[in-house]
Amino acid sequence: MLTQREGIAEIQAAAARVDRTLLMIPGPTAITAEVLAAGARPVLSHSDPRMRSFVAESLARLRTLFDAPSSQPIIAAGSGTLAMEIGLANLIEPGDRVLILETGVFGGRFRTISERNGAELRVVTSPLGESIDPDQARKAIEDFRPKVVTMTHVDTSSGVRVDVAALSRLARERDALVVVDAVCSIGGEEFHGDAWGVDVALTSSQKAIGAPPGLAIVTVGPRARAARDNRRSPFPGYFTDFKNWLPVMESYEGGAPGYFGTPAVTLLATLHTALEELAAEPMPARVARHACIAGAFKAGVAALGLENVADPDANANTLTVVRNPAGVGDELVDAVRAEGVTIARAIHPELRRASFRVGHMGICGPAEILTTLGALERALHRLGESVDFGVGLGAAQRVMSAKGRAEARP
Ligand code: PMP
Repeated sequence: MLTQREGIAEIQAAAARVDRTLLMIPGPTAITAEVLAAGARPVLSHSDPRMRSFVAESLARLRTLFDAPSSQPIIAAGSGTLAMEIGLANLIEPGDRVLILETGVFGGRFRTISERNGAELRVVTSPLGESIDPDQARKAIEDFRPKVVTMTHVDTSSGVRVDVAALSRLARERDALVVVDAVCSIGGEEFHGDAWGVDVALTSSQKAIGAPPGLAIVTVGPRARAARDNRRSPFPGYFTDFKNWLPVMESYEGGAPGYFGTPAVTLLATLHTALEELAAEPMPARVARHACIAGAFKAGVAALGLENVADPDANANTLTVVRNPAGVGDELVDAVRAEGVTIARAIHPELRRASFRVGHMGICGPAEILTTLGALERALHRLGESVDFGVGLGAAQRVMSAKGRAEARP
């Protein structure tokens, strides 16, 4: 019989034998051996007392993570897109007005979900790399009087972060419901669901939370719940219906199991461990860590003469979207992989084959940042670009050391 420690060591050794490539895409992200080991257990019944406490504790931790004491979190098997559909569709009746604040391709998913639920739409799209202009948002809210305003906290196609607090305030001034896609932000960016007036926030397990992909997470605030309860028309969704999920989650939190669809018990065990690890790092420190490594990576690529797509005041902590050198396409991503680091291609239509994306969230730290910048320097060299080796690394080192010194001061 192996102890848990020995079991983890064995899993780490096995993982090392299989693949030493560093995963630096903006989700799914690398996970700790402890999270991996949490899934390497016998399947539990969804009403097993251990599973009951996993779910109940995870729900409580999610409420803290979203800083939304008034909301009820839902965890369902599925990806972030399912969380988007659950979170938004319940609020829309045919003819309702939905305003989409779009900072990249993921706003387009809210657009489609709204259209399919019969909404009348207005879209405010920011220029590539920029956040939403508050004046434009205010004007759209005044003119259009939407029932729901959606925004993407961090858009993974552009690397742009929006000011959720400011935009929610504008929506709330006109009584609109606020739906926030926090798929690429929660766990790495500051978030205060209740204080910021967010009615629905959603994410998935595989990014800054540090669990494997496969769980959709939605927090439902009281106004969102009332909007579902007071619908005039029947809600056409079934798996996506708040009313099927909220009682199950409340039941688990009350200490009794619930059932609507069989929970992904193995993934729930991994999420439980990931949230436990997350809770061990105070949120301000976690956000500061993300800000520090993001600053280091962004400084590193800039020192190599590459351009960050997102404006400095809108540049996310969780990922960086970088323009390739002129004339270099996706072979750069392949060359970085050949140097041992997996990064992602562009998905924004304006950036395809001219840019790459690096995720630095979850368990990512200085070692991963330096390894990635080192691989990038070698990859650029391999492709014939002139690279002064160490320039990107040096810039990152300076940011991380300056940050360390600042924090060490009394
Ligand atoms: N929103 C954002 C901001 C995302 O980054 C993603 C995934 N990259 C999604 C939604 C969709 O999530 P999923 O791929 O898990 O369905």
